Amino acid sequence: MQTFSLAIHGGAGTILKKHMTADKENLYRAGLKQSLEVGYSILKNGGSAIDAVLAAVTELENNELFNAGKGSVFTNTGTHEMDASIMDGGNLGAGAVGAVRSVKNPIQLAHQVMMHSGHVFLGGEGAIDFARQQGFEMMPDDYFYSDFRYDQWQKVKGSDTFHLDHDTPDDKKFGTVGAVALDASGNLAAATSTGGMTNKKFGRIGDTPVIGSGTYAKNSTCAISCTGNGEVFLRTVAAYDVSALMEYRGMTLNDAMHEVVMNKLKPMDGDGGMIGIDSLGNCSLQFNSAGMYRAYRKSDGTSEIAIF
Ligand code: ASP
Repeated sequence: MQTFSLAIHGGAGTILKKHMTADKENLYRAGLKQSLEVGYSILKNGGSAIDAVLAAVTELENNELFNAGKGSVFTNTGTHEMDASIMDGGNLGAGAVGAVRSVKNPIQLAHQVMMHSGHVFLGGEGAIDFARQQGFEMMPDDYFYSDFRYDQWQKVKGSDTFHLDHDTPDDKKFGTVGAVALDASGNLAAATSTGGMTNKKFGRIGDTPVIGSGTYAKNSTCAISCTGNGEVFLRTVAAYDVSALMEYRGMTLNDAMHEVVMNKLKPMDGDGGMIGIDSLGNCSLQFNSAGMYRAYRKSDGTSEIAIF
């Protein structure tokens, strides 16, 4: 049997057990499990890595606990602007959307950009026009609303600060969801989707839709999906850096991710983490924050769902 594997994340940050009720933890774990199962069953049935990451991220976007799709954070004007990207490690095909509103599943739109737009990265109104033209499901603003995100926004509304998901001194967590996969044909893929930062303004776009920063996949090295302080992931080209360290320095996935997460991002206040899979199906899930919602499952029978 050919090896295949899938890893997912639902954001990183100061996720502390003492702030988590048992019920809430169960809901997060159930959300991760559901996404993992949907993606893994595609791989198990011989499906492609791209289809697996697309399905896994769509599940997480539809779950309002996570800051992507439904449940996305609020901008400074009370809207939801979402970013997403997807990459196929087999041919370096990629699709991305930035600052899109109303689109139920931004990751599906990113996939459509990759397949049918002739471009890689569409932004704002143009991306929404493309979505309409392609017959995408558009939702009213209140579909994306959640009390939890609204309360987060109320705390910083009118100020100049923007917050990464809930970013208070005692409870700091980055939202964003992502998936990486290796399929039985040896193809790698990565996908990432986010609502970005609470109270963001001026059409701010983070690392999530930027190929090489928040998302990267190349069959000969790895597939990577990131979550964290997007400005620092942008400046360090974090996802591509892992691939480059493997390609040019011959590092293992685990060592390359450690180098980027601990020695490059952390000293620049790039709090967060990333998930990766290499061409052998090895998974690595690393973060420099207190926790990261994460899970993986491999065809050798190993799997884990973890938060702290
Ligand atoms: N990286 C995302 C951004 O900066 C946020 C996150 O991962 O929570 O938009």
